[in-house]
Amino acid sequence: LPLYQGGVFLRRIFGKHKQILLFILEQAHSSVERAGLLGGVKLRTLSPDSKRSLRGDTLRAAITEDREKGLIPFYVVATLGTTSSCAFDNLDEIGDVCQDLGVWLHVDAAYAGSAFICPEYRYLMKGIEKADSFNFNPHKWMFVNFDCSAMWLKQPRWIVDAFNVDPLYLKHDQQGSAPDYRHWQIPLGRRFRSLKLWFVLRLYGIENLQKLIRKHIALAHYFEELCIADERFEVVEEVIMGLVCFRLKGDNEINETLLRRINGRGKIHMVPSKIDDCYFLRLAICSRFIEESDVRESWEEIQAAANEVLQ
Ligand SMILES: *Cc1c(COP(=O)(O)O)cnc(C)c1O
Repeated sequence: LPLYQGGVFLRRIFGKHKQILLFILEQAHSSVERAGLLGGVKLRTLSPDSKRSLRGDTLRAAITEDREKGLIPFYVVATLGTTSSCAFDNLDEIGDVCQDLGVWLHVDAAYAGSAFICPEYRYLMKGIEKADSFNFNPHKWMFVNFDCSAMWLKQPRWIVDAFNVDPLYLKHDQQGSAPDYRHWQIPLGRRFRSLKLWFVLRLYGIENLQKLIRKHIALAHYFEELCIADERFEVVEEVIMGLVCFRLKGDNEINETLLRRINGRGKIHMVPSKIDDCYFLRLAICSRFIEESDVRESWEEIQAAANEVLQ
């Protein structure tokens, strides 16, 4: 939303022909690219380091270079937990650069954000106080039914002021005493999503939510061990949260066949990804009902499909 508004807003000020830029990591979610298209801004993707993390120096060099060309970099998206492989950008470094150069910093923690309910994972969001906006989706990993996406803004006024229209029929006596969320978003009306979030928080309580997150991460490591123990397989990215990226050693084609076979058998379902032309499978642990036996059975299912494919 800030990206879309920022783009439209800058366009109003600078007109059509000025090049306006925003920065994202290579692995940023496709929704960012879409917001860029809607806002009518140019997008620049930046390469991560060898651990798939966007670093401050890379960002600083890119912003400086583009400013010298007369472009206006205004918005950076840092991802905490990428969709492809759950990698984490270096928020602390990126935050310093954004503050230093006066650029909006948005943090996309759609999936991994739920894990920050556990203190031991908050090191991954070091530097969060430098962000201008932060988003996570309780519908992904906090057991809230689809959809529920929570957005925090450091200074809501910037959003409200960008697009405020206040017709007479929407005026009311309590104006100013509570946030009017219609000014925070593109649609006017909203569903009452906070109620279901509230129920989940009340039902589980913070300790049970923490327990579930910890259990899921432990089960992901369990799956990782099973995977490593079978020498036909390899784990391709570091397992940090509940996502395990793995593949059969060999070419992409055999892994594509494997996934088709697994999903075709109809017992478990996985979604693949590809980084640097390396195709891999992704096992995500996120159900509140999952037990170790489910992970073991999933692994046996994967092994059975692998046996068929490798025959
Ligand atoms: C899933 C995801 C999104 C999009 O989430 P929606 O469920 O479509 O709102 C955005 N960013 C990241 C990093 C994601 O993993």
